[in-house]
Amino acid sequence: MATTMFKGIVLNSMDYEDYDRIITVYSDKYGKIGMIALGVNKPTSKNKYALQTFNLAEFEIFKSRQKHTLSKLKTAILIQDHFQIAQNYDNYLYASAIGKIIDQATQPRQKNYRLYRILCDFLEVLNLNQAPLANFIAALVKILHFFGGNWVLNQCYRCFKTYKVYRSFSFQDYGLVCPNCVDEADQLQDVAFINHLISLKKPHSEQNQLAQMPIKYLIFILKHLLIYYEQVLGIWNPILAKIEQKDYLKNFTTM
Ligand SMILES: [Zn+2]
Repeated sequence: MATTMFKGIVLNSMDYEDYDRIITVYSDKYGKIGMIALGVNKPTSKNKYALQTFNLAEFEIFKSRQKHTLSKLKTAILIQDHFQIAQNYDNYLYASAIGKIIDQATQPRQKNYRLYRILCDFLEVLNLNQAPLANFIAALVKILHFFGGNWVLNQCYRCFKTYKVYRSFSFQDYGLVCPNCVDEADQLQDVAFINHLISLKKPHSEQNQLAQMPIKYLIFILKHLLIYYEQVLGIWNPILAKIEQKDYLKNFTTM
């Protein structure tokens, strides 16, 4: 029987029977794919380290014909471990939240290479503990349109024109408002805040300023993102609920 190879990130794994494990991987070629790893819980298993959650590995599998049935793992070779993420509880929550969102909001074997790259880049910076909260927020902003969302951060959402400076970001309609379209009902925000918000959607390589983002901006945006995921996208899970209960979010009143 022919095998199939691809790279992927382990989103979750659970023990099954005595020595086996059921793994969900987000892959470059097939998007989300489920597989059974036979014998991986035996002490002699060679696949064990590659299959830890959030690790990047190369997989060789016997691919099942139907996308809703499990494939069978042949080998998994570790490419990059992300063990450092688990050293910090908050970072672990951020990684788990993104992993869980991707797991629950994508269909099996629906390829999305851009989503795969965003996930890889995010886990890499998190593993290095680089601006973890800002990168978590940036990841939430960057992936929301894959689940039917839209935050208009490249033009005025009312006149569709691009400007150098915007006056507001509407958290009712989730779009930038230009100086010509702004009206008295709009809540005006600092130019600095709006520029930081716009920077969240930029490619990973252009996000040097993420580390400089003031904490009050981050918390304000995260609060609105959590509301957006729950109420607009209908995506919610126990990990997002845990993040919502963090003191820094609960005690935050206004910018
Ligand atoms: Zn406008």
